[in-house]
Amino acid sequence: MKSTDYINIGNEYGAHNYKPLDVVLTRGEGVWVYDVEGNRYLDCLSAYSAINQGHVHPRILETLVDQAKRLTLTSRAFRNDQLPLLYKELCELTGYEMAIAMNSGAEAVETALKIARKWAYQVKGIEKYKAEIIVADGNFHGRTISIISFSTEPLYRDDFGPFTDGFKIAEYGNIESMRSLVNQNTAAILIEPIQGEAGVIVPPDGYLKEVEGLCKKNNILLIADEIQTGLGRTGKLFACDHDQVKPDAIIIGKALSGGFYPVSAVVSSKSVLGLFTPGEHGSTFGGNPLGAAVARTAVKVLIEEGLIENAENMGTYFSDQLAEIPTKKIKEIRSRGLLIGVELHESAGPARKYCEMLQSQGILAKETHETTIRFAPPLIIDKETIDWALDRIRDVLK
Ligand SMILES: *Cc1c(COP(=O)(O)O)cnc(C)c1O
Repeated sequence: MKSTDYINIGNEYGAHNYKPLDVVLTRGEGVWVYDVEGNRYLDCLSAYSAINQGHVHPRILETLVDQAKRLTLTSRAFRNDQLPLLYKELCELTGYEMAIAMNSGAEAVETALKIARKWAYQVKGIEKYKAEIIVADGNFHGRTISIISFSTEPLYRDDFGPFTDGFKIAEYGNIESMRSLVNQNTAAILIEPIQGEAGVIVPPDGYLKEVEGLCKKNNILLIADEIQTGLGRTGKLFACDHDQVKPDAIIIGKALSGGFYPVSAVVSSKSVLGLFTPGEHGSTFGGNPLGAAVARTAVKVLIEEGLIENAENMGTYFSDQLAEIPTKKIKEIRSRGLLIGVELHESAGPARKYCEMLQSQGILAKETHETTIRFAPPLIIDKETIDWALDRIRDVLK
């Protein structure tokens, strides 16, 4: 079958909740993916940063196969020999005391919101069901009904009410806006250290530190959603590390499994995550041995193969080179490590058009909103490959 056949079948039988580029991929290796016609592309999206380790990383694959032959799912009614080790390794890596494993990112966000509310009632002493959680406008935290209740993107939200109460929305990057929403019922602030889906929005210098200070002063939990920015993407383990900010809880997902299997987690202190008691929260697949084994190796690969430093070095090189492209189409480049947003002037036309042109040149990138192209290749990328990509990007943007 040809690409068009798959596209037609997908369009006929599948819900149209995405508008993918018309490329049908069948194989991946490292930074490269291949379509059913055998064309090769550089993956500059990395499945929204779930493929930080590169496609089909051999070590993670080996773990997946070995573990799948041995034991895949026990449910949490019984223990398994992988999850405790994942928990321990995650805590040692991140410097937190406790972890809880889920599957999708949205599920981990929900988990963090639930425990923040419990903390509000049991520890902070907020009157029952008065707890408020402050988020930022432009946020992306997932797709459940509670999470879209505090989205400011009409497309994600408008047709899906009634909504969940208890959230307030501050202007991202504006500490005064955040401060004005704080009151005695504020339980937590949930924030992305860089807003990926909003178009790689990097907040002003010092902002995250001020948010942290606001939380400390008012006994509020700071919860960072590092599902996209975490695990090396920005050139540090967490994007919060750039600002020496240590949230009370960090939510991770995506690259936690190197793209093999949905694994997400919340890491925090015993005084927060220790509040969960048996039966209060769970998931049939959350913490399963297959996912746990895969995540253990995926994290080892990040560290042992130096991918975080490589993201820093290659990210600086890539964004510096992009900034030198002689073109009137680029309005601004926002980046940290290998999370790079190239915002085009409106006069240049929609970013989608350039993504389609890049596709025909062998580069897969995705527009975010109308005017931004995101470049976020796997963290294993080398300088030679970036130079190859730059030749093509220059051509498309000239
Ligand atoms: C992708 C993402 C999520 C949601 O993760 P899913 O696995 O798609 O549910 C939440 N927050 C951020 C910042 C993300 O990038």
